[in-house]
Amino acid sequence: MKKIGLIGGMSFEGSAVYYRHINETVRARLGALHSAEMMLYSVDFQKIVDMQKAGDWDRAGSYLADVDTRLEAAGAEAVVMCAVTMHLIAPQVEAALSVPFLHIVDVTAERLKAAGLRRPLLLATRYTMENGFYPARMALHGIEVMVPDEAGRARVHAIIFDELCAGRILDISRDALQGLIETAKAEGADSVIFGCTEICLILETDKLALPGFDSTLIHCEAAVDFLLSDEG
Ligand code: GLU
Repeated sequence: MKKIGLIGGMSFEGSAVYYRHINETVRARLGALHSAEMMLYSVDFQKIVDMQKAGDWDRAGSYLADVDTRLEAAGAEAVVMCAVTMHLIAPQVEAALSVPFLHIVDVTAERLKAAGLRRPLLLATRYTMENGFYPARMALHGIEVMVPDEAGRARVHAIIFDELCAGRILDISRDALQGLIETAKAEGADSVIFGCTEICLILETDKLALPGFDSTLIHCEAAVDFLLSDEG
């Protein structure tokens, strides 16, 4: 089995899903009590949040590039970043690595394409919905991302930071997210992407008005494909 490195802690609620799902998938594929060989470097999320709020993406990029170096020194043969927003600085993180970086947008796009879907609603942080890096990368795969209106984006962002990253799961927020999905369906969306690693804590992909794609679980499965790529 190969070894992977996880850049985690953004938030730890989402990274815990990665740890569990990667291990569960390895056990399901290999049987017995097999589990994944991986290193997790978990950052202090408040430091990252402060840099995000200040728009100090370069500093955040240097910080995570340093984490890369540590993971690679510890033996990581590929790196996975357990947060969508921080893929905004993926070029900096990738440049610091001499091993593959498994980009969450690429692996999610492959799943959408395999299902024949091209116009997803994106539920994510404001940074991911508004910065442009996410739709631009999806567009390379021929996928046109839709986002909620201004009020909807503010609501999703607040649910992520004030509730999900803080370990709070509220029914009223689940209803609000489902309402946004129904609106998007009426406006022509053909699917919905959980474009933040904590959305899976509040929504289930098979209980929605549109086909759901949980990028956290998809990313984990891509990590397992890499881990097991040398197994017979
Ligand atoms: N984990 C989240 C994401 O996937 C949000 C936290 C962050 O902004 O880094 O985007």
